[in-house]
Amino acid sequence: MSGYVALERLRRFMTDADIARAEAAVPGIKGVFAYVFPYLADMSEGNISLYARGEDYHAAVRRELERRIEELRREYPNAAFLPYVDASPFPEVRAAAMAGLGVIGKNNLLITPKHGSFVFIGLIATDLRLEAEPCAPSVCIGCGACIDACPTGALSVNGFDALRCLSDITQRKGELSENEKRLVKACNTAWGCDICQLVCPMNGGAERTDIEGFATDLITSLRSCDIPPTQAEFKRRYRSRAFSWRGRGPLERNLALLEQE
Ligand code: SF4
Ligand code: SF4
Repeated sequence: MSGYVALERLRRFMTDADIARAEAAVPGIKGVFAYVFPYLADMSEGNISLYARGEDYHAAVRRELERRIEELRREYPNAAFLPYVDASPFPEVRAAAMAGLGVIGKNNLLITPKHGSFVFIGLIATDLRLEAEPCAPSVCIGCGACIDACPTGALSVNGFDALRCLSDITQRKGELSENEKRLVKACNTAWGCDICQLVCPMNGGAERTDIEGFATDLITSLRSCDIPPTQAEFKRRYRSRAFSWRGRGPLERNLALLEQE
C-alpha cells in the first residue's frame, strides 16, 4: 500500500530543525510517499518480538523502497526521491496516516485495513507535488484494551510515553532498575513487546506477510547459550537481524533475567 502526503500538511507535526533537515536533504521538497510493509509471519510464543523475528527491516524496507524509486523514476524522470527507514525527519506514523494508509490507534501505532498494526513504514521524500488519495477504511474503535493491557503504563489516556515502553526498555544498554528487571521477567521478553498489538481487536484478521525476508528463517526465541561471547561473533551471526543493532549486551542481560530462578 502506498500514499502521498504534502509537506504543507505535515509541517505542523514537525520541529523547525526537522523541516530544515528535510529541505536540505531534498531541495524543493513538496511531500513524501508513504508505504507500509507487512511483517506478520508467525504468532507462536517466543521471547523475540514479532517484528524482529525475520530479516532486519531496515535492510528489507530499504530494498523495497529502492524498487519503488525505480518505478517512480520511470514515471517522473526529472523528480528527486530519497528513501527513509526510521531516523527520518518526518513523523512516520502520522505521515502514513495522513497519506491514507490507516489510522493512528490508541496504542500509538498505525492500524491498516489489511495487516492491522503489524507493518513497517517506509517513506520516500520527493520534490513532486501530487494530490492526496482518499483515506483507507480502517479504524481504532477506542476500546482501550491496549491501555488496559500495557504492563508498564506507557500507554494511558494521555497518550504514549516511549521511556516507559517495555520495547524501549529491552533495547536499552546498561543496568535496568529493579522494576524494569521485574517487567522484563514477568513479560518473558528478550527483545521488544507485542502486548498492545496482540490484544487489539483490529489485529484479529491481520493478513500474513508476503515479503520473503519477513517470512523465512525466523528466530522466535533466544537463550543465553545462543549469544556468542564476543561482539564481533555476535554481529557476524546476527547482523541481518533487527535485534542486533544494540550489540550483544542488552540481549545477554535480558536473557539472564529470564533464566534466573
Ligand atoms: S509495546 Fe508493550 S510496553 Fe510498549 S506500549 Fe505496547 S504494551 Fe505497553
Ligand atoms: S486495542 Fe482498542 S483502543 Fe487500542 S488501538 Fe486497538 S482498537 Fe484502538
